[in-house]
Amino acid sequence: MWRIINNFVPTYANLQFRRLNVNNVCNFCLLSTETVEHIMRDCCFVGELFARQNVHFPSSSAALEWKDWVAVAFCSFNDQQKIVMMVTFWAVWYSRNKLIHEGISPSVSESLSFMRWSAPALNFVKCNFDSTFDVQCNESISGFLYRNSDGLIMAAGVVPHKNVADAFMAEALACLQAVLFAIELCFRRVVFEGESLAVVRRVSALSSDYFVTSPIVNDIRDAVKGLESAVFNFVHREGNNDAHVLAREGRGFRLPRFWIEEAPPCVTTAALDWEKLNAD
Ligand SMILES: [Zn+2]
Repeated sequence: MWRIINNFVPTYANLQFRRLNVNNVCNFCLLSTETVEHIMRDCCFVGELFARQNVHFPSSSAALEWKDWVAVAFCSFNDQQKIVMMVTFWAVWYSRNKLIHEGISPSVSESLSFMRWSAPALNFVKCNFDSTFDVQCNESISGFLYRNSDGLIMAAGVVPHKNVADAFMAEALACLQAVLFAIELCFRRVVFEGESLAVVRRVSALSSDYFVTSPIVNDIRDAVKGLESAVFNFVHREGNNDAHVLAREGRGFRLPRFWIEEAPPCVTTAALDWEKLNAD
């Protein structure tokens, strides 16, 4: 955020300023120079992202310099809108890089689902997983929750672990358990969503994994073969709240716990919030 606000992100305009020979046109709209204020404020792509989330900027700020504009807009918002504003900046930069480096053109809806939970396609189950990691005693908690295309909770699980090396292993363990429990429940097509970009990238990569931690990545890849279809997506914390709550609440459990067609009350409350949000 500091880099975006201070215009220290490598937008095409900034790269050109550094004498790099680049085409400086915004890849979203192909109409304007890609400056930080263009992609984060003026472009139609970010405009629609903000509009769809009901974030409207004070009109009095329109003529301000970028940094002042961010400050004025930020201060005019309540806490929730502040979070949305910051996460949207992040999502725009993520989508922009995906478009430029991988040629994947994200729709506004896809970028929105990156920021909040969205239901899977019909006949698919979505599993959100997360972990909490206690660096002092090397313990972690895996939390995972399954929902169908109507957003209804299908199952949930919490598993505590000892002797966990680091946060990556904690996330990878949560991912592995999410896959194994999905197989046990006889789900066939599952979309897995986690907050660890490293886990999601390495599990879905086609190449062999040679990191020190490759055994767990390979275990996940092997386990996935028990499913007809499995997709791994990265999701921002805002879209992974249920799993996050589960992993946090799981600290109260000494043994693994599983729920079928229900979830602990802490999650059910969050689910109600989600349904309310979508009804609005
Ligand atoms: Zn643009």
